[in-house]
Amino acid sequence: MLDINLSGKKIWITGGSRGLGRAMAIAFARAGADVAISWRAGEAAAQEVAKEVGAAGVRVLSIQCDVSDMKSVEGARDQIESTFGGIDVLVNNAGVVRDNLFMMLEDHDWADVFATNVMGAVHCSRAVIRGMMMKRWGRIINISSIAASRGGRGQSNYAASKGALESMTQSLAVELASRNILVNCIAPGVIETDMSKEVIGLAKDLILDHQLIKRFGRPGDISAWAVMLASDHASFMTGQVITIDGGFSLG
Ligand code: NDP
Repeated sequence: MLDINLSGKKIWITGGSRGLGRAMAIAFARAGADVAISWRAGEAAAQEVAKEVGAAGVRVLSIQCDVSDMKSVEGARDQIESTFGGIDVLVNNAGVVRDNLFMMLEDHDWADVFATNVMGAVHCSRAVIRGMMMKRWGRIINISSIAASRGGRGQSNYAASKGALESMTQSLAVELASRNILVNCIAPGVIETDMSKEVIGLAKDLILDHQLIKRFGRPGDISAWAVMLASDHASFMTGQVITIDGGFSLG
């Protein structure tokens, strides 16, 4: 049995108010870490998550922060650092979709998706890396998607944003390994959350036909791997993409 104890570690999860972010916040807290969740608009949902995190007996912070805005990100980083005394693990989880067929997508649909999914991760990483460098310890976990490698109907903007995130992960891993800052991605398949409701509604049978495991993913299928990546069990991997998709294939 794996023993994962993250007590003393301070985690920042963006988009921690719902879905995968919520599950990861609770999983990290149960592993003993202090957890800061940030969110853009869903304060009430975030408060509920904060309660569940606090119930694990760890320190918890809930902060409004739009990751597409560097100033907002710096404000959140300052608040977390002054309360917790640092940030050891950043989970770039905040993400949005603006799905439509390629010929229907307008520039703002591309810009919105890139502003959160790519620039959000750029801003948050830029905000925390200096502190991690000084400690010679850090973990950055980027939540990508299988869309990055396999595409998706109506998802050219989203898939491209996740492809950019995966590429950035590899370059950051190269730049930061010497400082013991490890950077990896998790690429989930279809996980039941608010984000996937529409796609599951439209294409439930089609998706399951393409999956070896005949159910949709649950947020807990992802959170366990995020905790693992932050632990010493993953101290020999960086620049990788872990795919958790129920055995999804296009064939
Ligand atoms: P949800 O839509 O359920 O939650 C998204 C979260 O991101 C919310 O907490 C939301 O905050 C936050 N958020 C969105 N935009 C911003 C922003 N600009 N600044 C700060 N926070 C923001 O999504 P999921 O939990 O399903 O997805 C989480 C991650 O996993 C995303 O990156 C997504 O792309 C990825 N993913 C999800 C899959 C799935 O099937 N669900 C599959 C593959 C990848 P608020 O509520 O306040 O707006």
